[in-house]
Amino acid sequence: MKNCLKKLFRSDLLTLEPYRSARLIGGNGKIWLNANECFSPPSFNLNNFFFNRYPECQPKILLEKYSFYSGIKQKNILVSRGADEAIELLIRAFCIPGKDCIMTFPPTYMMYSKISEIYGIQNIKIPLINNIKLDFEKISLYVQNVKLIYLCRPNNPTGHLLNLKNVISVLDVVKNDSIVVIDEAYIEFCEKNTLTFLLKKYDNLIILRTLSKSFGLAGIRCGFTLAHEDIIQILNKIIAPYPLTMPSIDIAIQALEDTNILVMKNRVSVCNQNKLWLLKKIKKLSLVNYIFDSQANYILVNFFYAKKIFNILWNQGIILRDQSHELSLKNCLRITIGTKKECELLYFALKNISLEQCK
Ligand SMILES: *Cc1c(COP(=O)(O)O)cnc(C)c1O
Repeated sequence: MKNCLKKLFRSDLLTLEPYRSARLIGGNGKIWLNANECFSPPSFNLNNFFFNRYPECQPKILLEKYSFYSGIKQKNILVSRGADEAIELLIRAFCIPGKDCIMTFPPTYMMYSKISEIYGIQNIKIPLINNIKLDFEKISLYVQNVKLIYLCRPNNPTGHLLNLKNVISVLDVVKNDSIVVIDEAYIEFCEKNTLTFLLKKYDNLIILRTLSKSFGLAGIRCGFTLAHEDIIQILNKIIAPYPLTMPSIDIAIQALEDTNILVMKNRVSVCNQNKLWLLKKIKKLSLVNYIFDSQANYILVNFFYAKKIFNILWNQGIILRDQSHELSLKNCLRITIGTKKECELLYFALKNISLEQCK
């Protein structure tokens, strides 16, 4: 890098590792099972053909629709450019660099730590015990300067649901000294487990949602924050004036119409059936060490020789997500549930890999 520019940048950004999204890692795939996207895209036409006007910041009809869908009042909802923007807005709203911290529980969604790093906010990482359980001793020990606690439920990449009693304990332990954010990006795959019912009781609880996964709309970038109206008001002060494009708003509104919610629910149920089929099949393979319990549209599998298997499949155009960069997930690959056909092709590809080939 040119020295004259180098001295101008924030020095901490020079060594920052960018977020390695599935899209960035790429691959030459025929079968994409690496980004937890939905396998059958819903198709929409735009209702609006003119784009000379700026869109509404918080489109009234969209809020109305999401309110109806979620059972949460409009004044308790913020819509943003994906849940990722909400993760960022919360850090900007609650944390002062060098003073406040966030807390996360790896292995979990990487964006919490990436965004905190970009803002110069310390992230206190409390590893999950055995990759599933919250460590209360450590949480109590380190929670002092923590403003935001990010819990992902179901958790990405493990797919498991953090125990409900434990989540409530976190809310009770931190009282009103920290905000607890529950990321429900995958909640439609196990809808009964939503924690929206806790919003009435806890002013410091925030729930994140998205249209990217179960709704099959990752491409339109639309997410929701559900929280106390005071929180929504502050977020409205700092959000970009036009966070969503008009085509996104148009499509999001259609996706939340009754008939399309039914389509989404049917797709979720097909996805869950495909998951059961795939689990039953690959459980028996000698390459598989163990499989994590999953309530989402992906499964995390601990393989013998994961790297080798990842590469063999990659070369066949079947793209999975390697999770072995995470210390406790050595030899783990995350597999997004695809169509039945894709699940079958993956199973046959795995079945054809011999242990000898891997050694
Ligand atoms: C995919 C994902 C998101 C991002 O959602 P967008 O609305 O696409 O930004 C947030 N949280 C988790 C846990 C995810 O897996």
